[in-house]
Amino acid sequence: MSDIDALLRDLGAIRTIVDRAQVKLRSRDFYWYSPILKKRLKDVTAELVVLPASEAELVETLRACHARRVPVTPRGAGTGNYGQAMPLRGGVVLDLSLLTSARLIEHGLVRAAAGAKLSDIDQQARAEAGLEMRMHPSTWRTATIGGFICGGSGGVGSATWGGLRDRGNVTGLRLLTMEKHPRALELRGDDVQKAIHAYGTTGIVTEVEMPLATAHAWVDFVVGFEDFAAAARFGHVLTGQDALLKKLVTPIAAPIPQLYFRPMKDLVPAGHAIVLAMIAPQATQAFEALLAGWRATILYRGDRAGASALPPIYEFSWNHTTLQALKVDRTITYDQVLYPAPGHLDRVARLYRDLGSDVMHHLEFVRFDGQVGCFGLPLIRFTDAARLAAIDAGFAAEGCPTYNPHAFTLEEGGMKKVDPVQLAFKRETDPDGLLNPGKMIAFERPDYDGAAAQSHLFPAARADVR
Ligand SMILES: Cc1cc2nc3c(=O)[nH]c(=O)nc-3n(C[C@H](O)[C@H](O)[C@H](O)COP(=O)(O)OP(=O)(O)OC[C@H]3O[C@@H](n4cnc5c(N)ncnc54)[C@H](O)[C@@H]3O)c2cc1C
Repeated sequence: MSDIDALLRDLGAIRTIVDRAQVKLRSRDFYWYSPILKKRLKDVTAELVVLPASEAELVETLRACHARRVPVTPRGAGTGNYGQAMPLRGGVVLDLSLLTSARLIEHGLVRAAAGAKLSDIDQQARAEAGLEMRMHPSTWRTATIGGFICGGSGGVGSATWGGLRDRGNVTGLRLLTMEKHPRALELRGDDVQKAIHAYGTTGIVTEVEMPLATAHAWVDFVVGFEDFAAAARFGHVLTGQDALLKKLVTPIAAPIPQLYFRPMKDLVPAGHAIVLAMIAPQATQAFEALLAGWRATILYRGDRAGASALPPIYEFSWNHTTLQALKVDRTITYDQVLYPAPGHLDRVARLYRDLGSDVMHHLEFVRFDGQVGCFGLPLIRFTDAARLAAIDAGFAAEGCPTYNPHAFTLEEGGMKKVDPVQLAFKRETDPDGLLNPGKMIAFERPDYDGAAAQSHLFPAARADVR
């Protein structure tokens, strides 16, 4: 009897999927965003999918997998796009999508099971208390809260609230260790960083606690600018308007909207850049007053759109910009870059001028350590890995760190610093290295220098080691 057959017997009544095609499907995420990962990971598959329906079943699953030394790769909705949720060493994909409960607790916090969808949490919070998530990835409709905090970084709402890295955006979480007798740990304060953006390598998150914000019927705007540098400057000014309630500030250069945003085909004049913005209804007059000082035209307003309504405009922002382009041209890929503030607008203008026409610019404005700053998620017409490296070198020459979306390990992705605290926690929660193996190089190769020159987005697991 194989280990997997024996494991199936151990799991008893816990729901599983054994059909090979179905197992392969749930062993995938959006890794194909990257032509490099598409080649490297195409054959990756688990042998079994397990779907626990309660924390007790989850504990039993981990216990059984640990006893047979079967690797376990957690999965929410599988929308991660660096192969984070792909089982490099086979074994079990642990699908958490049946753990969906959420409850509002004191002080406007939500406490949700890891598999709860962000859209469901928002709907519940809105109905019960007029509240909503501070931020969500542009995959709001499908992504889970556990997958977001373990694989994501921020998104719609980060223009006001910053990212998952910022203190106060995740107040607590509960996770299970991968040991003979799995333990439940509650992480609070800075300790939550030991699990945030760790791809599930340091424990299976069962519950997440996050603060909510007042819900608004956000109004979608598409604003046209004759040139991209002006769109970027406006994005900066708008993000700095603290009294003007906003959820999204996204400048996008031509020819992205014209070539790749099919639903905007007749909306954006040739050669024009756009800024996508989500503005609270009570702030729309202030927004229009701010715009009056700019050579800009409102091309679209969601509350006046009638039959010509676009999909929600956040589905053209963050990593959805790339998805829209991939629907039109399968050779498109992208990069992730931080334009450090201050000086970010000058960097944007120079890189817009100097990088080749195969790089098409897209910015996301955020609050970064209390300052207005921006990320770039430029689209790239893919030729080869050498050209991607040359583009990264171009960003580096301007002092802009890139976060490699063509790598599946934490270290090579570069957002998360695997520091000694993180590593010690990994050894404590998963001493046999069975959780999402292959994603944390420093655990498997102690000589690996994870502290290389990269400027990390999630810099350290604890403040005292910064
Ligand atoms: C079109 C598109 C748009 C996107 N936009 C954004 C964006 O705006 N912002 C952003 O940050 N990301 C974005 N992403 C990436 C991705 O959607 C987000 O990271 C999302 O939140 C992942 O949620 P998920 O439930 O699909 O997680 P999955 O992809 O299933 O998992 C993500 C990672 O977390 C681990 N994991 C999942 N659940 C658990 C758990 N309970 N315990 C421990 N580990 C776990 C998985 O092993 C994996 O490593 C986007 C991706 C796509 C394809």
